[in-house]
Amino acid sequence: MYLDTILDYNQQFVGSNQHEPYKTSKLPNHKCVVLTCMDTRLVELLPAAMNIKNGDVKMIKNAGGMITSPYGSGVRSLLIAIHVLQAEEVLIIGHKDCGMQQLDPSFVMKQMKAKGITEEEIQSVTDDGIDVEEWLAGFETVEEAVTNSVDILRTHPLFPTAIPVHGLVIHPESGELSIVTRGYRQ
Ligand SMILES: [Zn+2]
Repeated sequence: MYLDTILDYNQQFVGSNQHEPYKTSKLPNHKCVVLTCMDTRLVELLPAAMNIKNGDVKMIKNAGGMITSPYGSGVRSLLIAIHVLQAEEVLIIGHKDCGMQQLDPSFVMKQMKAKGITEEEIQSVTDDGIDVEEWLAGFETVEEAVTNSVDILRTHPLFPTAIPVHGLVIHPESGELSIVTRGYRQ
């Protein structure tokens, strides 16, 4: 069981003071908040490729590194980072070969049913006013998805216009970053 492996390791980790090098505060040293994808390849690669250390930035992750709704948890986290935790710059980082690219919602629903979710349960979500297919949908190209997320933020009524929002794409193997949109004003 992975949890037990983690707990065993954790006792050692804490017992031998291995946490010392990670001491920092909850405010981001570089006054920056990052939204990116939960992809396994990025867990260590993204911070390493950007020289991000513990304490440097606020890091938000979800499937695709996307903002899908102006009032979802992604935007709420970004707004908290800016208004409460002193972030002054936003990086939205998608990546090549993302699982959310061209994700077919009907495939996801098929997988749900294979795990025992019933038609009635899916219907109950629809009855709550959620278009499940639309809610699960991925994106066409990562550049489009990044641009779309950046635009939602830049035009959000609760988002300060002075805060730059940058859109980037990272390669999940080389770690190379490319700019989709720079947020600094001319
Ligand atoms: Zn991804």
